[in-house]
Amino acid sequence: MTVLRLAVPTPLRRLFDYLPPADMSADQATALEPGVRLQVPFGRRRVSAVLVERAADSELPRGQLKPAQELLDERPILPGQLLALCHWAADYYQHPIGEVLSAALPQHLRKGHPRQRGTIKCWRLTRRGMGLPEGALSRSPRQAEALAALQQTEAAVPVDALKSRDIGAAALRALAEKGLAERCLDEPGFTAPHCHPGLGLNADQQLALDGIAITAGGFACHLLEGVTGSGKTEVYLQLIARELEAGRQALVLVPEIGLSPQTLDRFKARFDAEIVVLHSGLSEGERYRAWEAAAAGRAHIVIGTRSAVFTPLARPGLIVVDEEHDGSYKQQDGFRYSARDVAVKRAQLEGCPVVLGSATPALESVHNARQGRYHHHLLPRRAGSARLPAMQALDIRQQPLQAGFAPPLLQAVGDTLAAGNQALLFLNRRGYAPSLQCHDCGWLGECEHCDARLTVHLRRRQLRCHHCSAVTALPAQCPQCHSRQLLTSGVGTEQAEQRLREEFPRHPVYRVDSDSMRGRHAMQALAQQVNRGDPCILLGTQMLTKGHHFPAVSLVAVVDADALLFSADFRGEERMAQLLTQVAGRAGRAETPGRVILQTHHPDHPALQAMLCQSYAEQAEGLLAQRRGAGLPPWGQLLMVRADSADAAAGEAFLDQLRGQFEDSGAAGCQLIGPLPSPMQRRQGRYRSQLLVSTRGRPAARAAAARLVQLAENLRRPRDLNWFVDVDPTEM
Ligand code: ADP
Ligand code: ZN
Ligand code: ZN
Repeated sequence: MTVLRLAVPTPLRRLFDYLPPADMSADQATALEPGVRLQVPFGRRRVSAVLVERAADSELPRGQLKPAQELLDERPILPGQLLALCHWAADYYQHPIGEVLSAALPQHLRKGHPRQRGTIKCWRLTRRGMGLPEGALSRSPRQAEALAALQQTEAAVPVDALKSRDIGAAALRALAEKGLAERCLDEPGFTAPHCHPGLGLNADQQLALDGIAITAGGFACHLLEGVTGSGKTEVYLQLIARELEAGRQALVLVPEIGLSPQTLDRFKARFDAEIVVLHSGLSEGERYRAWEAAAAGRAHIVIGTRSAVFTPLARPGLIVVDEEHDGSYKQQDGFRYSARDVAVKRAQLEGCPVVLGSATPALESVHNARQGRYHHHLLPRRAGSARLPAMQALDIRQQPLQAGFAPPLLQAVGDTLAAGNQALLFLNRRGYAPSLQCHDCGWLGECEHCDARLTVHLRRRQLRCHHCSAVTALPAQCPQCHSRQLLTSGVGTEQAEQRLREEFPRHPVYRVDSDSMRGRHAMQALAQQVNRGDPCILLGTQMLTKGHHFPAVSLVAVVDADALLFSADFRGEERMAQLLTQVAGRAGRAETPGRVILQTHHPDHPALQAMLCQSYAEQAEGLLAQRRGAGLPPWGQLLMVRADSADAAAGEAFLDQLRGQFEDSGAAGCQLIGPLPSPMQRRQGRYRSQLLVSTRGRPAARAAAARLVQLAENLRRPRDLNWFVDVDPTEM
């Protein structure tokens, strides 16, 4: 007997056994390849599931096994390496295999629709339509015309071709309603790519390129550590060119915010090739067509954000993870994976090189390079003539501040504008002010659902919670004592913008945060405007520090460096060093040398001093030494189990029990911390608590994760309690 072990899209961490469809012969069943989809009954639903393996028998008695209803694919929809990658990820992240496969498949295939290998939108006649005589439908001339156009050829007709013949969508839809015509996708022919010549490389770039290229055709992991503007992208482009010439494909991962049209334009200018882009803004149809082009091998280059790491490639040659330290590579809900780490595993399974590039690599990657697991390539200088900016702390103690700006900073901004240059001011807090208080009775504006203060948004006259969707009207008087003495404290971008406009009325001030930059093209339009080069002020949050280059910026200031200095998370200093290095890297890219000012009340703080006096690599070294002493990543592995519930005590009680059982079953070599309330314990009306487990070595971490999940699944828990495990958590 053949038993099919299937991954079903459910949150259960197991495979499900089915019998082959009733109409399938035994020979056909034993020939089924892993990776094909089958339609199966699941509870009262019908779902499409993926065959993971065949077995000779099942733990269930035969009478309890149900037959699958229908085989959906003749050939596997995912190549073997990608199936293996999903397996690995399900095991490593302790996530249900059905959900992992769902993340790897476009919705079209998840829903069980037939595979359409083409990517060109077409119309074709149905069998009924083919049977119609010529000249039919004479009573509706537009439909008759459409019909005639489809009858002219046996093949499907591209939508564009129909459009150019003035055949309207309405007429085609009418034919479809009558069952005479249908939409379909057709396959374009394969085109050979052409690569335009790259720039002449400097010695460092050449060394990196050669060192990486020599590993082509086999697995190797490379860390390309190059200061901002050192020409990392140029190295990627030339590596990709070699792969395309060898007939292989390249996969390029970029952070969410890094997928700017600027980046894309650079790829398009270099290659006459099919480049497909995968990001969250695509429609389902667009996403599916891109996926098919990649899977079929027609697309030469696939560029995408996090989830693109699971895109199948017919002929994988190279994987690039740009800005590999970026937080957006880690998925923070559901299937919590790190796309960077998955990319490295994928390269190993596919047998191709992977390049992790950054000016500020994650300590994990630095560590791997130092241990010799990754090849390390350095680009210590900027490409071309640009120089790195000089950095200085501005002690603002006792200085009169105006909306957070000390006079010397305003002076520096004024000088910059007067010299015809641009200034970039970084303030990682949107809104007008981060809190509102009554001066008479002490009332504080706090969120009802979160342990957080409400942010004042003056322009929209609202109080908003930045951790949930709570919004209320800005009160004119205190809700408690009706006093009108309501005071804001702290400064957000809205307030800073207002102050800058008053101070520099003759120059534009562009505010860049998620309130002002709505829509996918807003940032692009702004970058174009700014890069005309006229003097201006850019003021913004984290959004400003990534992706875009502003060559005319010669002054960068961090308005509130102190906000970065004091973080509860052990990664706080690493993030600060990365952020400040990245902000500083926006300045002085071209002929104008840059200057960076950090406003602080703590000019002697060791982390700030390190920032001023040391390179990122030196800081990373120091931080690695600190982590080693504490057994923190990358020296040890971390796992987090988090529980949340509307009941304040339930989560902790659940985790307490889990800890007890875990220890009873033998927790040697594991260090347990908690359960403790999570930072911001109450969020969106739910109380969160967490148990941290740290281990030494990957095998111990994997064993611990598997055991924790198994124990947690079998614990009794209140119905409204949710829990999850986060392997290698980055936010705690
Ligand atoms: P990164 O990706 O490290 O930030 P880029 O590849 O974007 O760096 O390069 C920064 C700038 O330097 C770009 O304008 C690029 O065109 C230019 N550049 C890169 N390599 C060279 C080179 N070898 N010669 C001249 N200019 C270069
Ligand atoms: Zn009051
Ligand atoms: Zn809230």
